[in-house]
Amino acid sequence: MRFSMDDGEEITRNQIIADFDGLDADRQGRLAEVAKRLMAEQQVLSSTIPPIQCPPWCADVTGHAGEYLVEDQIHRSQGHRVELTLVPPVVFDGGIYPQQAWAELWQGLAEEARVEVGLGDVVEIKMTLQEARRLAQHMMALCDQALAKSPGDVT
Ligand SMILES: [Zn+2]
Repeated sequence: MRFSMDDGEEITRNQIIADFDGLDADRQGRLAEVAKRLMAEQQVLSSTIPPIQCPPWCADVTGHAGEYLVEDQIHRSQGHRVELTLVPPVVFDGGIYPQQAWAELWQGLAEEARVEVGLGDVVEIKMTLQEARRLAQHMMALCDQALAKSPGDVT
């Protein structure tokens, strides 16, 4: 592994150890900082953290085993997706795909569950459960209004 010094020079761990005693105090100090930073990074990246207890709706079946940082242990439900016919499709990797609106449950470290809604990978909005319920109720009411028959309709 090579480490970058603050002046852009790259140095190996063995160089740091072998050359340390022959260096001036300033250089020793800078190398010690680099070595400390590197050891901290190696420690973080070389050990995964223990799995956690997931809520029943979480799609992860391992308790997020294999993560290195607690902030990466985020619970997500299965996503619910709706293809949108009134939004221009997405061109991706040589194909044309309908844009999708989606919703899922999301819960980060020490947070309450949220509903996250989005449009493809362009828009992501987190809402409290109460906000999501209110919006869903308004959308259902709007659909019911639009589909309701006028009093004068015969059929
Ligand atoms: Zn989970």
